[in-house]
Amino acid sequence: MMQLSIPLNFIGTLYREISTGLIDMEAMFKLLDEPAEVTDKADAPDLVVSDGKVAFKDVIFSYDPDREILKGVSFEIPAGKTVAVVGPSGAGKSTLSRLLFRFYDVKGGSIEIDGQDIREVNQASLRKAIGMVPQDTVLFNDTVGYNIGYGRYGASREEIEDAAEAAQIAGFISTLPKGYETEVGERGLKLSGGEKQRVAIARTLLKAPPILILDEATSALDTHTEREIQASLDDVSKNRTTLVIAHRLSTVVGADEILVLKDGVVAERGKHSDLMKLNGIYHSMWERQRAADAARETLAKVVAEV
Ligand code: ADP
Ligand code: MG
Repeated sequence: MMQLSIPLNFIGTLYREISTGLIDMEAMFKLLDEPAEVTDKADAPDLVVSDGKVAFKDVIFSYDPDREILKGVSFEIPAGKTVAVVGPSGAGKSTLSRLLFRFYDVKGGSIEIDGQDIREVNQASLRKAIGMVPQDTVLFNDTVGYNIGYGRYGASREEIEDAAEAAQIAGFISTLPKGYETEVGERGLKLSGGEKQRVAIARTLLKAPPILILDEATSALDTHTEREIQASLDDVSKNRTTLVIAHRLSTVVGADEILVLKDGVVAERGKHSDLMKLNGIYHSMWERQRAADAARETLAKVVAEV
């Protein structure tokens, strides 16, 4: 049972930290007095990342025993390459990233990083190797400097500033009343969606993980901001093994492989041009999105004229 002495908003914060992969799960479950979903084996060694190759091997998973979410999903992300996952909402896309983070263990098959089953290594070393930019970044009620520096324990101010520069948020921070010491979050300055994503990108750059997960990282942004942030994300994912869960298909055109996840299986896979030629699910998703974009543009024009 949860201890009622823990303030509710704190639990809310913890919950969001868990979902974004920012908190030490073990500490969290100790706090809430609940058994952790996954546990390290005794003396589990550190994950050793040599190249950063990720492999899902016939992965089966369900949250509830009576409803299988993944029914045997296999794919590989070669070191430094990008694999994109698209598909309808609820298909299990984010579940793939939760499994790679090992928030849950697979029910069948395995997930390997450079040939090591992630169940055989300790979670701390696993999570150190993986960076995540989620759909909605939730900031700590602390300074903007702290929020970036959280990416790597012990980072110097200079390193934090370099990361902010690379994520193109340094200019904005310099306009804040107290610069890097400005309090942000629910009790401080409210940042826009785009600014929060830039903080998340800066945090990730500082962490410099060999493996990166982008889970609909731009889906909460307006089209213009989305384009800007996408350019930064493309930079971050360069030479990193990247799993990108995409909501806008235009952002995955350049992926080394695109998987269409549907009904628990990979229904289609290939490069953008291959999938377009297939004339299947991906093709119709693409057409639908293009029609929606066109409608949005027309609407914007009409609104502008009124
Ligand atoms: P996607 O990211 O493709 O939209 P998710 O991977 O988040 O989908 O979820 C896949 C399915 O699993 C959905 O039907 C969702 O409702 C269900 N689900 C997600 N998280 C949980 C959970 N913690 N417990 C039970 N069901 C869940
Ligand atoms: Mg999702």
